[in-house]
Amino acid sequence: MHRLLKRQLQKLGLYEKDGPVERDRFDRLMALISETYREDDISCDMLQNSLKVSSIEMRELYHQLQEKSERRLDAVVSVIPDMIFLMDAEGKYLDLFAEGKEHLLFMPKEEIIGRYIKDLFDRETTSIFLQAIAKAIESGKLNTIEYQLPISGVKEYFEARIMPTGLQESGIDTVVAVVRDVTEQKQQEDQFRLSEIVFEEATEGIMIENSDRIVIRVNPALVRILGIPKEELIGRHSDDFGKVISPQSKQNIIQAMESVGHWHGEIEIQHKEKSPTLGWLTIDTVKNDDGEIKNFVFILTDISEIRYSREKLAYLATHDSLTKLPNRSMLFERLEHAIDSMERSGREGALIFIDVDHFKEINDNYGHRTGDYLLQEIALRLQHATRKNDTVGRLSGDEFLVIVEDTPNIDAILHIIHKIRKLFDSTFHIKDIQIDITVSIGIALFPNDGESAGLLIHAADQAMYNVKKKGGNDYEFYSKEFTILSSEYFRIQSAIKRAIKEDRFSILYQPQFSLTDGSLTGIEALLRCDEEEVRNIPIIQLITIAEESGLISAISHFVLQKSCKQVAEWQKIVSNPLRIAVNLSRRELCEPELVDMIKRNIDVCCLEPLMLEFEITESTLIQSTKAARKNIEILREMGCRFSIDDFGTGYSSLSNLKEFNFDKLKIDKSFIDNIASDEDDKIIVSATITMAQKLGLTVLAEGVENDIQAKVLKSFGCDEVQGYLYSRPVTADIISDLLRKENSQIAFL
Ligand code: C2E
Ligand code: CA
Ligand code: CA
Repeated sequence: MHRLLKRQLQKLGLYEKDGPVERDRFDRLMALISETYREDDISCDMLQNSLKVSSIEMRELYHQLQEKSERRLDAVVSVIPDMIFLMDAEGKYLDLFAEGKEHLLFMPKEEIIGRYIKDLFDRETTSIFLQAIAKAIESGKLNTIEYQLPISGVKEYFEARIMPTGLQESGIDTVVAVVRDVTEQKQQEDQFRLSEIVFEEATEGIMIENSDRIVIRVNPALVRILGIPKEELIGRHSDDFGKVISPQSKQNIIQAMESVGHWHGEIEIQHKEKSPTLGWLTIDTVKNDDGEIKNFVFILTDISEIRYSREKLAYLATHDSLTKLPNRSMLFERLEHAIDSMERSGREGALIFIDVDHFKEINDNYGHRTGDYLLQEIALRLQHATRKNDTVGRLSGDEFLVIVEDTPNIDAILHIIHKIRKLFDSTFHIKDIQIDITVSIGIALFPNDGESAGLLIHAADQAMYNVKKKGGNDYEFYSKEFTILSSEYFRIQSAIKRAIKEDRFSILYQPQFSLTDGSLTGIEALLRCDEEEVRNIPIIQLITIAEESGLISAISHFVLQKSCKQVAEWQKIVSNPLRIAVNLSRRELCEPELVDMIKRNIDVCCLEPLMLEFEITESTLIQSTKAARKNIEILREMGCRFSIDDFGTGYSSLSNLKEFNFDKLKIDKSFIDNIASDEDDKIIVSATITMAQKLGLTVLAEGVENDIQAKVLKSFGCDEVQGYLYSRPVTADIISDLLRKENSQIAFL
């Protein structure tokens, strides 16, 4: 029984703890109440009579009961989010409870009761409702529907749970509809669904870890960017697959996370299969209300596209749009860098300024388009003529710059100038127009001619301008001495070419003697050139230029052939074996054909290999390449002899040279010159002799010009001598005469 009713009955003295006091009276009252509720058809009079209470009292009691019960219900309804409607199957509102939610009602409660759904709603909603009520009644079960209503202009979502009561009202079935405003929930759901879509569809990779740094969620974009399947990511500690980012980035991230709890920055991502890409990573922490970390959220954006556009922008900013060559600003930057690096390493470089002669006339005659095409063609040719490490750029208009780093000597620069000038020998074909052009070239050397890019360009420009003033089509160095030197260089080069062609080379021979017994130990072959232009130029200079211009092999061919033939001739005069010494330069020594050429000459002239001695300077030996060492090794194995030439000028220690296992060491003339007077030279020479002999080398003193030198050398135990004191370099005939003399020993001994 309803507790409220119980209490009322207790007040009337009709109900005790254990049950009704007066059974009869109680039953009658209950019947009356039932009747009042129209649930039964017991008459009111019957109740009144049996209870002996007036009908006024009866109604009063009923109202009290009803009111209290309604208030209770209202209290309950006010704390739950639902409104409760009592309705019948025809959609009539019988009662409703909406305490605290009146704003959700269409109209005041009193006006709703007694009305039908169709009076309040549109046809569609009405039919949904009526169908739902019918279904609930028919099935006897709860039926739930959802619908929308515009409440004060805003769409609100409702959910109605319709339950059949199993009771009738005026003969019509009734239902209870528990209606809830689900707008907020719906919005949250929508929000959630939206977040899900964002998470799944985002182009950014997203990864969520729990507080133990275990990955709990990843989206498809992350899988795509990393190239790691979802299954390999979920449930793992993110450090396990941390290989995708570089150790340095990782270190930065760890530090930042520990100190500030979040991080963002560029990282290089190593995709499982593809080449690395650039990413922008943001890491944040999600904390609960107590400030404890709940999650780590990683958002990774593939920014390789951005990098690409960034690089493209950088390219546009640093390159000339017409020729695609580095532009002015990049040239300045590269030049600054080149100057710095040459300065630091003590090396040198050259800046070559190229300006097209009469370019304005070409533009005027053929139009600017043709002029542009011509500039593009020039750019192409320049690029082909230079090495990979050189920079070719367009300074402006018809001015081009070439930056050459690491030029070992002037000749190397001249070689490039020569190549550049040759580019303009052939006609340019622009569409169907044929254009012949010349250029003026100015050269500045760095760091000497200018310590900054600006100064250096100015210097090269000035040199170029000097060429222009003289009519163009030439080159000039900023420093005059180089211009003179270089023209000298080209003069010698053509003289050598001529000499080779006209057979103007010859050989003089200088004998070498034993200091012990005065006997002839060897004869050195020394090259001479009687080409008019270069007659007065030291042979060593001709040899250097021949080496740099690729002319040396013709010369060494000549020297070897001639020397071999000559020694074979001389050998016919004397019985004891003769030896001829041939000098080999750095380039000759590297020649791949050197060994074959020597072998051929030995064979043709029927020589013993030990009759050939090769002189190699100390500095050549120090700088010798692999190929050079290989050649030496083969020749030594064949039985040829080797000597270290110009010893003392190459700053190497004797023990360093020991590995070559040579036969002879020639002390350079510069130590012999003052051996009689200079105490230091004396010490050096005597020590060298002692050491060299200990290492099994024969020691020869070069450039001995007087008796005193000879005496000192003899006292030091020097083995052999060579020099003007005994003989200048002489012709083959004079050597033949010497050999024919019964005794070719040096006279003074
Ligand atoms: P080197 O091999 O040291 O040759 C010795 C040089 O000293 C020769 O000069 C010779 O004429 C000179 N000389 C010898 N005795 C004396 C002396 O008592 N007083 C003075 N003042 N000079 C003396 P040369 O012939 O002018 O040759 C110079 C250099 O050129 C040679 O130095 C050698 O390195 C190179 N050379 C000469 N001929 C050839 C050759 O056929 N091939 C190669 N690769 N180099 C050669
Ligand atoms: Ca020599
Ligand atoms: Ca020498």
